[in-house]
Amino acid sequence: MQHSSRLEISASAYGQNIAFIRSRIGSEAVVSAVVKGNAYGHGICQMVQVAEQAGIRHFSTFSSDEAREVLTSSAQPNEIMIMGMLHPAEIPELIEKGIQFYVFDFERLEAAIEIAQRVGIKALIHVEVETGFHRTGFDWHDRAKLLDRLRVNASILELKGLCTHYAGAETAQNHTRILEQIVLFDQFRAYFLENQITFERTHTACSAATLLFPETHFDLVRIGIAGYGFWPTRETYELIKSDLSPENPNPLKRLLTWKTQVMSLKIVESGSFVGYGKGFQAKRDMTLAIIPVGYSHGYGRNLSNTGRVLIGGEFCTVIGNVNMNAVAVDVTDLKNVQPGDEVILIGNQGDKEITVSSFAETSEMINYEMLTRLAARIPRIIVD
Ligand SMILES: *Cc1c(COP(=O)(O)O)cnc(C)c1O
Repeated sequence: MQHSSRLEISASAYGQNIAFIRSRIGSEAVVSAVVKGNAYGHGICQMVQVAEQAGIRHFSTFSSDEAREVLTSSAQPNEIMIMGMLHPAEIPELIEKGIQFYVFDFERLEAAIEIAQRVGIKALIHVEVETGFHRTGFDWHDRAKLLDRLRVNASILELKGLCTHYAGAETAQNHTRILEQIVLFDQFRAYFLENQITFERTHTACSAATLLFPETHFDLVRIGIAGYGFWPTRETYELIKSDLSPENPNPLKRLLTWKTQVMSLKIVESGSFVGYGKGFQAKRDMTLAIIPVGYSHGYGRNLSNTGRVLIGGEFCTVIGNVNMNAVAVDVTDLKNVQPGDEVILIGNQGDKEITVSSFAETSEMINYEMLTRLAARIPRIIVD
């Protein structure tokens, strides 16, 4: 079966990214690979293989379905941690499979206790505390009740972690808020310690916190975006640039290359409208290459008339609207373009590169969003 495009995932780039993160955190802390959102669009199954090769044995997902996919893709005895969604009805299965999960409110804690007792196997839980993100986590004023429930049920709960999540460590504007979160997290830690409740690991850091706040590393860091070779924001990069060696000024390497080929060529005369509606009118005689990729694959409509691809080592601009399954690009000034020629949507060709951030310079968070929109049905192929 031929697909209209493919994504190549570079295993060696991932290895370099993990080595760079290692160089920042030392040899002690565990690196958990965050693979939510279909591994930021890279494919869970492929990323588990790639990460295992890089020595990763800990994976973090948002939901239980992702955790199952990590488990079935694992060749190693990996630890798997669900940070978000699961249904109480799934807890027996998760406990039996040894999948760890966050507990961030009393409903889930009581469900875990009750089910663990019923199946007679310990629930492997991470207690998430609220330090200022205000999404999930036990509040400071719940600490006594929480402590009591953990104590009374100690025989049926394995306390794998004490954790929290920072509210935007990737922008300098939030730095005082992050520092306040660190202080409050320390108070939670001290409280449990004073009361003889111990957790196997303490963990708080996402990529930005890992790179910018060494005091957030503790025993494990949860690495998403940086593992895939992107700085959480430009600011994150600016803030640590002075630490980087001049020989390797950008140690984070993109794993992803998105490739397709020219489907057909079209000659249009000056004055013709191209595609649906009147979004583009040719001002000269043009040659267009039709590319079999569109918004249904994750090539956003915001790229209409602005996106660029690489063909024959040259940038070619999208002409007219991005359609569901196709776009037209301008190849008027290229020689000898043929159907079947390689087209790069993300990645390098010759000495030129299309970056993910070039997909929309306007939004700071676009890397995360653009990546996770890459359609799951595009084949992912691991390359060196
Ligand atoms: C997504 C997520 C991470 C990883 O964030 P990155 O910025 O991609 O490194 C870490 N922790 C939690 C709780 C998350 O939801």
